[in-house]
Amino acid sequence: MSSMNSTRKDQHKFTTPPWKETYKKRCLENMRKNRVSFLNRFRMPKRSDVISVVQEVMTEEWNVLRKSHTTLPSCSELMFDTDNEEITYLNSIVEEVELSLREEEKSLLELYFTDYEKDLCNTIDQLLSDSDLICPLCQRNPLMMNKGVVLCACGLRVNTEQDAVTISYIKQSLEQTMATHNNSCEETANFVVEDMFGTNHLLMVCEACDFMDIII
Ligand SMILES: [Zn+2]
Ligand SMILES: [Zn+2]
Repeated sequence: MSSMNSTRKDQHKFTTPPWKETYKKRCLENMRKNRVSFLNRFRMPKRSDVISVVQEVMTEEWNVLRKSHTTLPSCSELMFDTDNEEITYLNSIVEEVELSLREEEKSLLELYFTDYEKDLCNTIDQLLSDSDLICPLCQRNPLMMNKGVVLCACGLRVNTEQDAVTISYIKQSLEQTMATHNNSCEETANFVVEDMFGTNHLLMVCEACDFMDIII
């Protein structure tokens, strides 16, 4: 539908047709109305889909327009009859409309990606706060869980012997114990792994106030 063969001299022979604004408006409305299906194409993009959205809307609305403006050429005439002066002029108008639609497409996509990125950030935030816990012992690596065994790259290894123990459970236990200690003592408590009755446990201890509690 687009060929920019028209020269300024040619354009002077024709006045801007009254349907131009109607056509543009309808195309834009069509794109906005179908925003959801339009954006869905970008979620599961096929390259051909992405390219054809604007063209598709323009063809659809052009055919609607031709019902009330019967002298207008068909889409294929617009595309192939490029030697014709009038068609060349019509193409330049269609091209202007296409530009506006590309703008609209851009802003729809920008909106979509802003929303999408926001969602993604929220999900990541949640994942991190739910399941990421820096090892209290080395204060550097994340704690990992494997079949009830809590592990850290620093060498920490505590077998909880319970499948139900999760990182967020440990996090909760840690926060509770810390709150209990900090209620009555201003010193910073430390963490140690101790063998108690044949099993390793992660303990929170404070020498200043003789506090000791099992985290896991
Ligand atoms: Zn560690
Ligand atoms: Zn203390």
